[in-house]
Amino acid sequence: MVLAQLGGSISRAIQQMSNATIIDEKVLNDCLNEITRALLQSDVQFKLVRDMQTNIKKIVNLDDLAAGHNKRKIIQQAIFNELCKMLDPGKPSFTPKKGKPSVIMFVGLQGSGKTTTCTKYAYYHQKKGWKPALVCADTFRAGAFDQLKQNATKAKIPFYGSYTESDPVRIAVEGVETFKKENCDLIIVDTSGRHKQEAALFEEMRQVSEATKPDLVIFVMDSSIGQAAFDQAQAFKQSVSVGAVIVTKMDGHAKGGGALSAVAATKSPVIFIGTGEHMDEFEVFDVKPFVSRLLG
Ligand code: GDP
Repeated sequence: MVLAQLGGSISRAIQQMSNATIIDEKVLNDCLNEITRALLQSDVQFKLVRDMQTNIKKIVNLDDLAAGHNKRKIIQQAIFNELCKMLDPGKPSFTPKKGKPSVIMFVGLQGSGKTTTCTKYAYYHQKKGWKPALVCADTFRAGAFDQLKQNATKAKIPFYGSYTESDPVRIAVEGVETFKKENCDLIIVDTSGRHKQEAALFEEMRQVSEATKPDLVIFVMDSSIGQAAFDQAQAFKQSVSVGAVIVTKMDGHAKGGGALSAVAATKSPVIFIGTGEHMDEFEVFDVKPFVSRLLG
């Protein structure tokens, strides 16, 4: 179920509940079951959905609501709040400051959109007067450096990498040092994302992180990975201290639920979403407007 459909299904469930003459236990349960079904079809993790249902029932205690209370409003508000809670881990991520050097490390599986997102992130800040720089610490995939170089050149952002050095830790450290000397205030380290060698990948992430001491580690996730999102995000979180999430390809036919699961797994907020292949198809992510839009 794509995000717009998810929103539509939830809105319909709320509308049906609102249309009922009397809101009793059965009407509330029908509404919540409908929402549960929609969320599960959107690949939100089962446990999250179950917790949400329990929380809403705890908040909306129909017996305790005296006559005259607007039950519809209270239920609607509870659903809205619970959806927001699923997307808001309750603590903001590290926010870099213009003019002060910050190292931002990007992690994520190959194909997630990591390299594209590194450039989008740099470009977004550059337009606001920052001095970003890109470091390619992916020495595994042939062509990774060329891709970053191409993107960086197009956006006129300085970059660092090597065709011959095979040690990603070394490149990452050299790149960060180089750009610190050049007074860049946003030093973005792109990393490898190879599949099928996860243990080696996570060890490499740990080493790059230990050597470059990033102020923020951003986990990049393709919105279409569905139910795999929770485990994937958690695996990265266990090797490096992920502090924020960027969800890519929100323009496609992806099921949106993975984003909710990634937030839960990393206890980190979604800070941006990718909405296309172009450099400026990138949006700041705000929970409340997002949920409002979702619910129409
Ligand atoms: P990496 O292997 O994780 O570094 O992924 P890439 O940055 O190479 O991206 C993989 C593919 O996804 C490329 O074709 C990108 O153009 C595409 N891509 C990345 N972000 C988005 C997005 O937000 N929307 C769409 N439609 N495509 C994207």
